[in-house]
Parts: sequence; C-alpha cells; structure tokens
Amino acid sequence: MVRKNKVLVVGAGISGLAAAKNLNDSGYDVTILEAKDRIGGRLYTDRSLGVPLEVGANWIHDNNPERNPIMKIKEDLGLESHKCSLAGSVASFEVLDKEGNKIKVTNKELEKIEFRVGIFAYLAKYLRPSTSLEEIFNFVKKLGLLSFIKEEALFVLIQKIALEQADDPDKVSIEALFEQEEFANDEAVIGGYDQIAYYFEKELHNKIILNSPIQHINYEQDIIKVVSGNETYEANAVIVTASLGVLKKEIIKFIPELPIKKQQSIKKLGWGTLNKVMLKFTHKFWGDKDFIVVANKESKFHAWINEEPICKEPVIVATISGENAKKLENKSDEEVAQIALNELKAVYGDKVSELDSYFVSKWGLDPYVFGSYSTNKVGENNQLLRKNLSTPVNSKLFFAGEATSVKTAGYLQMALQSGLREAENIKKIYPN
Ligand SMILES: Cc1cc2nc3c(=O)[nH]c(=O)nc-3n(C[C@H](O)[C@H](O)[C@H](O)COP(=O)(O)OP(=O)(O)OC[C@H]3O[C@@H](n4cnc5c(N)ncnc54)[C@H](O)[C@@H]3O)c2cc1C
Repeated sequence: MVRKNKVLVVGAGISGLAAAKNLNDSGYDVTILEAKDRIGGRLYTDRSLGVPLEVGANWIHDNNPERNPIMKIKEDLGLESHKCSLAGSVASFEVLDKEGNKIKVTNKELEKIEFRVGIFAYLAKYLRPSTSLEEIFNFVKKLGLLSFIKEEALFVLIQKIALEQADDPDKVSIEALFEQEEFANDEAVIGGYDQIAYYFEKELHNKIILNSPIQHINYEQDIIKVVSGNETYEANAVIVTASLGVLKKEIIKFIPELPIKKQQSIKKLGWGTLNKVMLKFTHKFWGDKDFIVVANKESKFHAWINEEPICKEPVIVATISGENAKKLENKSDEEVAQIALNELKAVYGDKVSELDSYFVSKWGLDPYVFGSYSTNKVGENNQLLRKNLSTPVNSKLFFAGEATSVKTAGYLQMALQSGLREAENIKKIYPN
C-alpha cells in the first residue's frame, strides 16, 4: 500500500515532535514515522519501580525560559520542578572519599580551578585545538596551579565534566569547557520529564505512526519514497531525526548515498555512552545534595544522582560514561545493580538499607539510538562537522536532532531547536 504525505518526519523524539508541530500549525500535511512503540526517544521516563525515573534526559539545563524553550513549555504546562545548580556550585554536590568521608571543596576553589584551567584551555583552543580535557587539567596541574585542591577531588571533578559529555576525559575536547557558560541553574520536572513530549503528542493527534522503523529513504525522484517493512510512504520533503548512533550504524539506507561531506561528519563526530543504574531502597541513607561524587579511581560509578527530591522516594542513581559504560552493557542487569550496590556499601557501610528494586539503562544496545548523545570529540572541528551534518540534501532531505545543533549539541533544547530550524527551512523551500 502506498500512502501520500507532504512532509515525513523520521523519529518522534523531541526534535521530530517540534518539527512536526511547527509544520502542522502552519497547515502542512505532516506525518511522523517512529520505530519504537512510544514517543519521546531519549526523553524517556520509566515507571516500573513505582515512581517516575528518567532513563534519558534528567534536567532542564538552564532554567531561563527566554533562552530555553523546554523551560518555557514546562512553565506553560505549569509543571512542578526541583531546582538545582549542577554546573559547579558546591550547594548542589558533595565530594566523598572512598570510605565515605567528606572532602571539603569550596565554591572559591571551584572558581579558582575554572579560572586557571579556563585560561590555558582558551590558549590551547587557538594554539593546540586537539587538546583533550585530561591533557589540559594535567598541564595546569604540572604547573603547580591546582595544588590547593586534593588530588582525589580534582580527579572526580574532571570525571564529572567528562560524564556530562558522555565520554572519558581523554576523548573529550577542551571545546566542552566553553559550551556550558549559561548553564548556571537547572530544574528537574516532577512527575516525569516525558510530560514535555506528551505536550506535543496532544497537538499531533493521529499524525504519529508508531512501530514503523524506516529501512530505506529513496530521494532520487521528486517524490521521496520512505520504506518501513511492507509500507512505502511518499513525501516532497523528509526530516531525518534518527540519532547519530543510528546514522553511524547505517540502519537507514539512503538512495542515492548521502554526500561525502555528510558521510564524513557522521563518521567523525563523537558519540558517547552514558548509562544509569537506578536503585530504590527501603530508606534513604545518603545526604541531601543533588549530586554525590565519589573520589575513588577504582570505582566504576563516580557520580550519583539523589533522586529523592524529584521522585519523593529513596532512589539514588549511579551514572557511568565512556568505555566503562560500554563494558558494563555486556553484563546482566542484576550484575550491574550488584556492582553499584557494592560501591554504595563501600562508601556508606552499614547505613545502606535494603534494596527494593532497580532499573539499568543500556543506551548503547538500544537499536534505535545506539548510544546516548553526541560529544565534542578531541582532535575534530566539531562545530564544522555538526554544520555539515545539518545541511539539507537536494532541498528534499533535511536533518534535525541534537547532533545537528551547530554551536552546542547534546541537550534537549538544542534538539528541539534543530527541529524548528528544519521546519522553517522546509517552509521556505515549499511555501504552503
Ligand atoms: C542518559 C541520557 C541523559 C541525558 N541527560 C540530559 C539532560 O539531563 N538534559 C538534557 O537537556 N539532555 C539530556 N540528554 C540528551 C537528550 O535526551 C537528547 O539530546 C534529546 O532527547 C535528543 O532528541 P532527538 O530528537 O535529537 O533524538 P531522539 O530522542 O533520539 O529521537 C529520535 C527518534 O528517532 C527514532 N528512530 C531512530 N531510528 C529510526 C528509524 N530507523 N525509523 C524510525 N524512527 C527511528 C528513535 O526511536 C527516536 O524516538 C540525555 C540523554 C541521555 C541518553
């Protein structure tokens, strides 16, 4: 059966939903084809532990509604939230050593680190742009400019920055240090971050077809043919929002092949893995800070999210990124939960209460994501690669999604804005 549509959007993540809503509001005939049996993509709230827990995106990074459209939607919907400041203030996190003793770190010290590393990172940006996060910290350390802070504390602070980039400190470019200047305040939506995705769904009633993984996009002729199983859909324009991980794995076959520049961008852009182990206990035994970082080089999980203020139950979430995250994906959920539990016991000893239930994410194995989000890969001109990834092909094939956001990628608001960008591009080329 052949169905006709004017614009097809591949993927019902936040970028696809935003693009489709924009086009739908402007009177375009638009359909979203989504591989999974749900919308939201990497904005995914799990409720199997009896409380809403975020498997993917956790926070609204930057809670200024003028700058951040996600925050604006949250306000318009009147959603409750928990406020914090993850960018670096000690008000939001505490550093523990491997025995669970607090390591004192002050905001003044953090500012000093930021300033000293920042100066050298700024110089390296011009003199040696292929410098990694690990190298710049080591360099400044060797100069003796970070000796005021305990070695272990410095180690986890670097891990924390790399974690935000979903990779290891030696793989992340110093570009990462210049991206988050505006991210002073964050918020977590109470009741499930996926409420933001459902806001779009309401507006797109009957225009989303779930369980429709796309295998081929043939854009040789004026009318583009998009194939999912036995179904062929037709359109004048197609917006592809599948993750960079999906594009890297060549799950979707493009006919003809994508231009070389785009293929190179897909190949060269950094793509990270960030996973979470959510542990629900019978009683809370950890402190009240939003983030707990454990300074133990041997441990797998350096940063823990205190979910209790968000989900109102004793839940703590272990996070892991880069190579360690990929390795753990080969283990069973039970084994992974046990490793996390053992690490908590090493820190909190007898205080650890009974484990009630757990949820383990494995984003790298998700067949419609294959990882977590794009990263600033060391040694690459990431902004240029992202620009090339975002460039439309033959005025017919459009690319959106977080990895196509040129200045800064990875975050939900950038994914949303990339969807709006491509909707506007289509409106210019195909005025209604
Ligand atoms: C663990 C984790 C933590 C994160 N934390 C935060 C955070 O705290 N704050 C923040 O702002 N951001 C965070 N992010 C990033 C944020 O979730 C993403 O930037 C955003 O959700 C990406 O949206 P998208 O539309 O680009 O892609 P996606 O959400 O991946 O949407 C793409 C859609 O395409 C579908 N698809 C893929 N292949 C096909 C196919 N062949 N056919 C049809 N459909 C297909 C997918 O199923 C998916 O629904 C996090 C992400 C992860 C994984």
